[in-house]
Amino acid sequence: MRKKIVAGNWKCNTTLQEGVQLAKSVNDLVAKEGAADVVVVLGTPFTHITSVVSAVDTNRIGVAAQNCAAEAKGAFTGEVSAAMVKSTGAEYVILGHSERREYYGETSAILNKKVALALENGLTPIYCCGEAFEVRNANTQNDFVKTQLDETIFTLSADDFKKIVIAYEPIWAIGTGVTASTEQAQEMLAFIRGLIAEKYGKEIAEETSILYGGSCNAKNAPELFAQPDIDGGLIGGASLKAEDFLAIINAY
Ligand code: PEP
Repeated sequence: MRKKIVAGNWKCNTTLQEGVQLAKSVNDLVAKEGAADVVVVLGTPFTHITSVVSAVDTNRIGVAAQNCAAEAKGAFTGEVSAAMVKSTGAEYVILGHSERREYYGETSAILNKKVALALENGLTPIYCCGEAFEVRNANTQNDFVKTQLDETIFTLSADDFKKIVIAYEPIWAIGTGVTASTEQAQEMLAFIRGLIAEKYGKEIAEETSILYGGSCNAKNAPELFAQPDIDGGLIGGASLKAEDFLAIINAY
């Protein structure tokens, strides 16, 4: 059975001390009350990963970087390689987030290098896709997302593809307080699963965890997570409060 996953994306928030405190709070709440069948992931800034790994029970909570370099190593000042991320104890890396695509010019070609390096280093990519408002407005979101996937993770071998978690995040819903309707989210995730089935076969499609992200919160998570193709969430704002994040983890 495919995994249910609730992953937090802290983005560029929290000092190291605040982040460790948040991780400890999540860890304690999850240990006491967290749904046992949900994989919990904390996507922290690079600077926090080692400390967060030490602060949580890593048998219960996974830690993610929010990015990694497109090069293995060398003269790339300020970059953090996939091998470096792996050496911190992180198990996941969020790749292709719309903020990285938009503000840092991450193209499909760059993302392919990052995904390859993440996989080579034993990290699980949480690979984001999703359309902007204009695309949704023109009702071309399916073609748009298909192209995003065709150009990137659909070029992987079946063995590598099986290691990927997908997060569908419509850009118009990220950080805006506007969630995709349950129907819109389910429809897109079912569409993506259908594409995976066409490309890699039904068995792999059924085993791939596909998350929804975009203003998901404690209130709307139960209805979203009740949909047959929604295997959890990538959570931004609501992952910064331990109680809210726990409520989302327990929303199944
Ligand atoms: C995100 O950025 O991945 C995200 C889903 O943000 P938010 O939950 O704040 O919309």
